[in-house]
Amino acid sequence: MSEDCIFCQIVAGEIPGRTVYEDDDVLAFLDANPLAEGHTLVVPKEHHERLNDVPADEAESLYSTLHEIVPAVEAAVDAPATTVAFNNGEEAGQEVPHVHGHVVPRFEGDGGGPIHGIFGSRPELSDDELDEIEAAIDERV
Ligand code: AMP
Ligand code: ZN
Repeated sequence: MSEDCIFCQIVAGEIPGRTVYEDDDVLAFLDANPLAEGHTLVVPKEHHERLNDVPADEAESLYSTLHEIVPAVEAAVDAPATTVAFNNGEEAGQEVPHVHGHVVPRFEGDGGGPIHGIFGSRPELSDDELDEIEAAIDERV
């Protein structure tokens, strides 16, 4: 546990959270400032700052929880869709430095748009640049 982490404090029961799911590795609770009714956060119980810090077995639990939570949230608020997203790192808008997946119910005409909407413009990349990027990622996984 990280002492001054708000999500660790929720996991430890030191501050209240509206828990909707819990197992040995994962906790899911309602976001305190929901972007839509039913906005839920899914967190590993252990403190990890970024997605790549989460060990593989905990990552599996995290994903399998998302797999169950997403349809449950949609059904609970009668939403036809959800945006499921991780702000992974401060520059990406992560404010709480404890990995958390957002499950945000979506409704027709809610004005939210796709995640593409968070980017104002797109880079123009040549085939050579794309080749380089493809290779750079490929050689690291
Ligand atoms: P992010 O910007 O991805 O780090 O998102 C952090 C989220 O945590 C925001 O949507 C907040 O509304 C939510 N949040 C912050 N404090 C609490 C809390 N005590 N209980 C539930 N959700 C919280
Ligand atoms: Zn934490």
